[in-house]
Amino acid sequence: MGRLLLIIGIFFLVWVGYRFLKNTWSARIKAIEDQEPKTSSQQHKIQNIKACAYCKTHIPEDEGITRDGLFFCSYQHLDSYLEHKAK
Ligand SMILES: [Zn+2]
Repeated sequence: MGRLLLIIGIFFLVWVGYRFLKNTWSARIKAIEDQEPKTSSQQHKIQNIKACAYCKTHIPEDEGITRDGLFFCSYQHLDSYLEHKAK
């Protein structure tokens, strides 16, 4: 009977240990996965600074608008540029 309890105790400890490790590792992997896209998007932003074709302001490419190969900081400047060009 004592041996059975010992075996059950060992299984319980292994199970608790397994669950603890599994939670720790999944939390770590999740933390790493959460960090990676942020870092790559930050590098992406730093690498792709473009000048607005209208006001020449330099802003990250993914925050502006690209139209017909030209880059604009806002839709307002896209419209202003097209109006100016049309005249
Ligand atoms: Zn602009």
